[in-house]
Amino acid sequence: MIIGGGLGGLFTGAILAKEGLLVTVLEKNATVGGGLQSFRRFGETFDTGMHVVGGMEPGGNIRRICEYLGIADKARLRPVDADCTDELHFLEDHQCYRLAKGKENFIHSLVSYFPDEEDELRAYVRDIFAIADSIDLFNLRPSEDYMTGLPAHALEAASDFIATRIRDPRLRSILAYMNPLYGGMEGITPAYIHAIISALYIHGASRFIGGTGRFADTLADYIRAHGGSVLMGEAVETLDIEDRVVKTVTTAKGHTFTADYVVSDIHPCTLLPMMRGKGFTKAFRTRLEEIPNTYSAFSVYLKMKPETFPYINHSVYLMTRYDDVWHFGDSSKPWPMGLLMMTPPVDDQGPWARTILLTVPMTFDAVKPWEETVTGHRGADYLAWKDDCAERILRLVEQVYPHIRDGIEAVNTASPLTIRDYYGSKGGTLCGFLKDCHNPALTNIPVVTKVRNLLLTGQNINLHGFCGVPLTAINTAEAILGRNTVINHINECTKV
Ligand SMILES: Cc1cc2nc3c(=O)[nH]c(=O)nc-3n(C[C@H](O)[C@H](O)[C@H](O)COP(=O)(O)OP(=O)(O)OC[C@H]3O[C@@H](n4cnc5c(N)ncnc54)[C@H](O)[C@@H]3O)c2cc1C
Repeated sequence: MIIGGGLGGLFTGAILAKEGLLVTVLEKNATVGGGLQSFRRFGETFDTGMHVVGGMEPGGNIRRICEYLGIADKARLRPVDADCTDELHFLEDHQCYRLAKGKENFIHSLVSYFPDEEDELRAYVRDIFAIADSIDLFNLRPSEDYMTGLPAHALEAASDFIATRIRDPRLRSILAYMNPLYGGMEGITPAYIHAIISALYIHGASRFIGGTGRFADTLADYIRAHGGSVLMGEAVETLDIEDRVVKTVTTAKGHTFTADYVVSDIHPCTLLPMMRGKGFTKAFRTRLEEIPNTYSAFSVYLKMKPETFPYINHSVYLMTRYDDVWHFGDSSKPWPMGLLMMTPPVDDQGPWARTILLTVPMTFDAVKPWEETVTGHRGADYLAWKDDCAERILRLVEQVYPHIRDGIEAVNTASPLTIRDYYGSKGGTLCGFLKDCHNPALTNIPVVTKVRNLLLTGQNINLHGFCGVPLTAINTAEAILGRNTVINHINECTKV
């Protein structure tokens, strides 16, 4: 029984189904996917929380998991441009940096802007790949403890890791440009998070064609094809726990389910009230409540008029100031500080963008005045505030694309409240629990719990995102099937 049909629930379910278990997924929303879900608006498809993914290039770790499941060919992806995977604009000095795919090309692209830093860049890239290569789970290697063998500097702060290797302050900020993808915080986020994500995207990034929801459906269909069920509109309300065993799971519709194992893919703090104080010790509950979460985001979804804005086959990052690249989680700073811009590919993609997506980091503090409200009933002041946010974001984008507004046909927005209520994630967090290099034990939540048949999966356990959540799904599945069972099966059927 899996509570939550997000990326974590669906991958864990698909792996368990492949290994012969009968899986039932209970999803509260009308469609599956969580952050992998797409929605239709203005006749177009928009993605909610998965815009650019790593690990899906040939030989990539997530592609190999998909090959083991036999669904790799169903993931319809378009690689971003090799000569420019990411385009970075710093408005402070109107500089634009274009980064290329592959270790050598990545180094060369940055050396062209910072010729005096070649040796430093080489050492930096060597060190981030050394960290990524040292993690067994990331490399799908069997091991006794997936995170052993990390070099000591993997647990220092990512900001310090960069600063001790790179002299130019601007280059330091440039190397931290992907912070919005992992909720990076200065002096807090461990270097291994930065290293894994950076190494992954230097290897190559892709985007789903026609929406991520198709891939969520592929995973759900896989579970059904293996005899399982994926039930939508089933919001779990209570777990009945006796003698450290989940006896039943009951949904808001009053349906009661039993299972040998229950896997929770939802935010652990959302799970706690469902357990009614049973199962976990008070100390563990307090620990979960006290772990800070990564910041949230405000999203703007634009439908463009035909042939008005070019399709751009890479991500565009807009930053106001170099110094603020680590400060997205600081609500005292002027907002917006920066954003991620995408033109998602559609089927038969031509030279023009049909839609544009703007993801802008935002803290939950910004929506505190409306935190007690529910979707559709947040009030006129909330709608006016959302319009104002969209306006401020568009003014930022106009500094790089002065004519963007002429091409806009329709605008839709989503706030941290949307993320909180839609996924059930605490504070609308973008990437779940904030990993803290000063206290790695606090934020490393194991997949097994004190409740003997209750396991955890999803972005709050281990690593977030498309590159992290499927890896945790392996951990969770192996807690039932036996250590290295799945990894060995993946290695048997996918040779690199
Ligand atoms: C705006 C945004 C942009 C992002 N961009 C990227 C990106 O470009 N690349 C990337 O790799 N990652 C990105 N991420 C992160 C990524 O989306 C997440 O790490 C990932 O989707 C998390 O998957 P999950 O299964 O752990 O959680 P979720 O996707 O949150 O899944 C949890 C599921 O549980 C369901 N649920 C909650 N409560 C209940 C209940 N009571 N009963 C039943 N079901 C319930 C929810 O509806 C949801 O479907 C982004 C996130 C956001 C918010």
